Amino acid sequence: MQILNNYPLKKYHTFGTDVYAGYFAEVNSVAAFRELQKTDVYRNNSLLFLGGGSNLLFTKNFDGLVIKNNLKGIEVVKQDDDFIYIKAAAGENWHQFVLWCVNHNYGGVENLSLIPGCVGASPMQNIGAYGAEIKDVCYEVNAIDIQSGEERTFENSECKFGYRESVFKHVYKNRYLITSVVFKLNKKPVFNTSYGAIEQELKAMGVVEPSVKAISDAVINIRSSKLPDPAKIGNAGSFFKNPEVSKQKYEALKEQFPAMVAYALDNGNYKLAAGWLIEQCGFKGKRFGDAGVHVNQALVLVNYGAASGAEIYDLSQQVLDAVHDKFGVLLEREVNIY
Ligand code: FAD
Ligand code: NAP
Repeated sequence: MQILNNYPLKKYHTFGTDVYAGYFAEVNSVAAFRELQKTDVYRNNSLLFLGGGSNLLFTKNFDGLVIKNNLKGIEVVKQDDDFIYIKAAAGENWHQFVLWCVNHNYGGVENLSLIPGCVGASPMQNIGAYGAEIKDVCYEVNAIDIQSGEERTFENSECKFGYRESVFKHVYKNRYLITSVVFKLNKKPVFNTSYGAIEQELKAMGVVEPSVKAISDAVINIRSSKLPDPAKIGNAGSFFKNPEVSKQKYEALKEQFPAMVAYALDNGNYKLAAGWLIEQCGFKGKRFGDAGVHVNQALVLVNYGAASGAEIYDLSQQVLDAVHDKFGVLLEREVNIY
């Protein structure tokens, strides 16, 4: 295994900004990672584990060791009449894993089709889309403590999954390398087509009886038509989370802004569509040099080519401030900032 110095990261993250890692190594096996752990470079530097680089923003060069996780493998661990337990290594591409499940007609991840990145990052922020989240299908997460080297298995409840949240994103940030995730998928799939434009798309596709494959195809179609492709324009998906506010705050805002988009949550609070809030502040489609707010989806900040991470971060601060001034709501960044 090679440790490279002063290594360009541009092609390793989807914002595509021009940044460098002090050191860079790719690990293809747990054994290789264990070798890396013995080196001075590992011991004397801050570490960053990298999957597909689709949920982070580098505001400057990373002055430490970036470890690109290339652990591969998908295997069935156990099954019964109703469920199948599938272990996927952290470096597997997420969408390819979803397609593997779809092709076997295992239900549970079809609504999460076409999300960029790797399996290992999926529990980090409890990835979610179209009413589905990893927390609904994650059986356990296998990880290595980066200090002691001990292996640890986190059961679903220990992951403390929340809305785009988990124990790995904050409490255990940079404490564990996730090596694999075991998913519990349904052999008798239950479909969730009520979210967003899925039903409409299924109709347009001429689908009468939904199936795992049809839903995956519908999600792929919708996402491809709406979201910016990072291969063409730098971005990391939604830059901000949808904020949750109390019923009281929601009602006050709704009176002032009747068109506001919001959804009632089970806990009595309301989730506001952050994209709508940002749009109302006039940011949708706005460009500041090569940093901008996407023309179709105001939640997505983009790099038109030569923007720096610092410029994109500054733009995110402008958005935060404007939304706070207009609505009294503090947005939270979803993207990991380095
Ligand atoms: P990275 O960006 O490489 O890493 C993200 C964080 O996880 C970093 O802090 C990193 O250090 C850490 N990490 C990565 N791998 C490991 C590991 N093995 N062990 C420990 N820590 C690790 N997200 C959604 O939830 N829903 C969506 O619908 C969605 N759509 C998107 C659409 C687009 C166009 C884009 C660009 C992004 C979208 N995202 C979405 C965000 C992103 O794709 C997901 O969060 C994804 O899970 C990130 O995976 P990654 O491998 O790229 O993670
Ligand atoms: P959309 O369908 O236009 O919906 C806009 C917002 O309204 C979304 O943020 C979504 O919240 C919310 N919403 C829509 N229908 C809902 C319902 N029935 N119940 C509760 N909330 C509802 O959004 P989009 O931009 O095209 O994205 C589609 C899906 O992909 C969303 O689930 C979104 O989260 C996900 N996505 C995530 C990222 C990311 O980087 N995190 C990037 C792109 C897309 P939620 O976001 O809470 O679902």
